[in-house]
Parts: sequence; structure tokens; C-alpha cells
Amino acid sequence: MKFGTKAIHAGIQPDSATGAIMTPIYQTSTYVQEQIGVNKGFEYSRTANPTRSTLENNIAILENGKYGAAFGSGLAAIDCVMKMLNPGDEVISTNDLYGGTYRLFRTIFEKYGIKFHFVPMGNLSEVSEKINTKTRLIWVETPTNPTMTIIDIQGMSSIAKQHELILAVDNTFATPYLQTPLDLGADIVMHSATKYLGGHSDVVMGILVCNDDSLANEIYRIQNSSGAICGPMDAFLVLRGIKTLHLRMKQHSDNGRVIANYLKDHPKVDKVYWPGFESHTNHSIAKIQMKDFGGMISFSLIGDKIEDALEVVKKVKIFALAESLGGVESLIGHPVSMTHASVPKEERLKAGISDSLIRLSVGIEDADDLISDLRNALS
Ligand SMILES: *Cc1c(COP(=O)(O)O)cnc(C)c1O
Repeated sequence: MKFGTKAIHAGIQPDSATGAIMTPIYQTSTYVQEQIGVNKGFEYSRTANPTRSTLENNIAILENGKYGAAFGSGLAAIDCVMKMLNPGDEVISTNDLYGGTYRLFRTIFEKYGIKFHFVPMGNLSEVSEKINTKTRLIWVETPTNPTMTIIDIQGMSSIAKQHELILAVDNTFATPYLQTPLDLGADIVMHSATKYLGGHSDVVMGILVCNDDSLANEIYRIQNSSGAICGPMDAFLVLRGIKTLHLRMKQHSDNGRVIANYLKDHPKVDKVYWPGFESHTNHSIAKIQMKDFGGMISFSLIGDKIEDALEVVKKVKIFALAESLGGVESLIGHPVSMTHASVPKEERLKAGISDSLIRLSVGIEDADDLISDLRNALS
């Protein structure tokens, strides 16, 4: 089956009790047992719930994996991965990582004795240098936020295999429509389903997918023991969102291409970060591991003045000023005063996050309208 068919049908059966074609929202905590030990596969909704299980199967199949697990947020899913580790273990992580993931690593898991190395991963050699006998896991995010760095998943997977490390990939920006990390040798795929999978800015959720039986056992054990599950209503919303994932991602990517090219030629725009440009660092890897380049774009302004960037984000009318990304509506943000406000200036400049950098989550509106909006705001 091809992707669009799987998005709509994979792992989804009409409801066995009623024939309902849409997976019902099983808003229940418990399930009546015929007698002790005899049940219909469900005992208590922290452990398993039919709406959630359907979503978990659906996303697992889309990622070409065997096992899916859904959590109350993207960070809860990452929290589960980190709980597989023990005090003394070390993790090598992408340096320009989603801010919330960085905070989770530094302020929660360091306290429990896990050591993190934050490494620029555009070039793989720096990763090998950090590996020692305590290293257990490599955490990759690609493309990264906000400069869209592309990390070579297959190359990273050879390093991980050589040293028997777990390779986990945050696939939030790409989604399985654009990139399937398990096929490239990753062991775990993570999503903030809050973003493109849900796709309508109406739910917060996290997902893990893997192929390996023992990794899956660990994930389900932690999911059930720590209890950071998502509710059935949210599972329903993400199941519904995924049904149009292929159409939305195609449109996000098409709009992204038009807008990136418009910005590139604009006299007031300095740099444009979009992995589809041949000049983009690791464009050749993006071309191999991604089907298209998505709708996330960042750009900086000539002169690099904070006031100019603030003026642009204030003047847009269709692009909404907001955190988050991946919804049908276009969003605009200023990383220096929003997502990356807590990063020291020197560090953020090293990561390419200049004062005038503006980030777009290009939605699926008509591209012409989005361009007029930007033209107006930049004039
Ligand atoms: C939003 C996001 C997260 C965190 O997900 P939540 O659902 O907000 O907890 C993790 N990684 C990336 C790349 C994200 O964009």
C-alpha cells in the first residue's frame, strides 16, 4: 500500500461493536471482565485504550515500524526514552535542539546522573569523538529548529551500530510523509504529534515508534509505569489529522518552495534557511533522506536589526504570531525573543540564530495570499 492509503486505512477497522467507520472515542477508564483473567484485551486505560491503540498501530505502520506508543505530549515521549537509561549513562545530542528537549535533558535528567553532550551534527566526525564506554544513546533532530540543519540519519546509524548505541530521531519537522528514520537505521522515532501529525493546532501529544521487541517492551513498561499517556479524545483527533497528512505535507512543501524562492530574491532579505536550496548545508543528504523539504523556513534581514524583524512579525495579517508549528494555518515567530530567548547571545549566534531571524511555519493557504502578506510586511 502507498502512503496516502495507509494514512487513511492502516491499522484501522470499523468498530467491531457497531460498525462505526470512524474509530470511536472510548472515553472509559476500565473494562468489565467476564471473570478474573478473561477480558477483551483491555483492562485499564492507562495500560491500553482502544482509541489510543488504533492510533499507535496507525502511526507505527506509517513509520514502517512494528510498535507505536502515544503520550500526553512530545516531551512526555522523550521523557520515556530517557527513562530507559541509568545513572552514569551518557547521551550525545544534536546541539541546536528543540528548546523544551534541551530543558528536559539539562534540568531533569542531568539531576538523575545522565550526562549529555551537545554536538553540532551537520558533520558526523564530532559525534564519534564524544563516544566512550558510557555512551548509550544518540539523540538526533533533523531538520533542526530554526536553521533547518540536516543531519545524515544513515551515517549516524552506522556510528550507532558500530558502538551498539540506540539511535533516536525526533521526526517532528519531517513527518513520515517526508522521512522514515527507521528505514535509515534509527532504532526509535519520536514525534510531537502536536505539530504536523495532528495538523490542526488543536491537540498536544507525543509518539514513539520502534521495531525492536525489547525496546518496545521497555517503552510500554515505562508508558504504563510512569503513566504519561494521552487521552482517547486526543487520540481520535490525531487519527483524524493523519488521514490528510499526505495532502497537507504536499501543500506545506509546495507553499514552502514558493515562499523560500520569493524570500531568496527579496532585496531586504539576507539569508534564507530552507533545505531545498542547493546552497543549503547538507542539501545533498536532504535530497536522499527526505521526499520533499516541508514548510519550515527561516530568514534573516539585511542589517540584522531586531527592530526590523519585530516590525515584520507585527505587520503580517495572515501569518499569525505564535509558538508551535505544523498546523494548516501559517505561523510566524521571532526565535530571539520567543523560543530562544533564554539562549545566551554568543551561543545563539554560533548556531546561526541572529537578531533579525524570523521563522515561518508555512501553512496550506493559497501561496499567492501568503506572498502578498510577506511582501506587505517587508515593504
Ligand atoms: C514541539 C516539539 C517538541 C515537544 O513536543 P510537545 O508536544 O510540545 O511536548 C519536541 N520536538 C520538536 C522538534 C518540537 O517541535
